[in-house]
Amino acid sequence: MSGRFALLEMEQEEPKFTHAVVHMDDGERLVFQDQRHFGFMNIVDTAKLFEAKELSKLAPEPFSEEFGADHFRRLLKGTKRNIKQLLLDQTRVCGVGNIYASEAMFLAGVRPTAAGNRISARKAYAFRVAIVDVLNETLELGSNIVLDRSNIGGNIYGPGSDAEWRVYGREGQPCPKCGSPIKRIVQGTRSTFFCGKCQR
Ligand SMILES: [Zn+2]
Repeated sequence: MSGRFALLEMEQEEPKFTHAVVHMDDGERLVFQDQRHFGFMNIVDTAKLFEAKELSKLAPEPFSEEFGADHFRRLLKGTKRNIKQLLLDQTRVCGVGNIYASEAMFLAGVRPTAAGNRISARKAYAFRVAIVDVLNETLELGSNIVLDRSNIGGNIYGPGSDAEWRVYGREGQPCPKCGSPIKRIVQGTRSTFFCGKCQR
């Protein structure tokens, strides 16, 4: 959703929808490409980075110590919002995008429409682990944001391509656990994919 970065060599042309170019000492260029205009760039003092209004309101990242089991349990307990929208709210959970949200909910067996405060302690525990697992898995696969000069203008997904998601983008295809067809719903303008049988 937020565009992507690409590293260009001397002779390479800037891709379509390039909005910012950072010129490196060695002649390479780091370009920021954003077809949908969701991204933005801001220049701030390094020392004041986390005081910048865009970063100061971000919630703890799933890899941080603050994002522990108790923290996550309290977060769910304290809201009647559905867990999908909670996951995408960067002031509540930071860094889980739309694809990873569907995948983590599937792994944990939680229903995307369930209110946070209806999730049991046991499921909340499994859910937090699933979020971290999905992000780790994606990092191992190379993320879906490609910083790769050979891939300019190509697929925005890296090795972890659509073919490897368990439920995301798989509406109507069999659930990898039980075989029933994967469903798609729209929550807050974003698609959510899930299995109605495995996620209750
Ligand atoms: Zn299933």
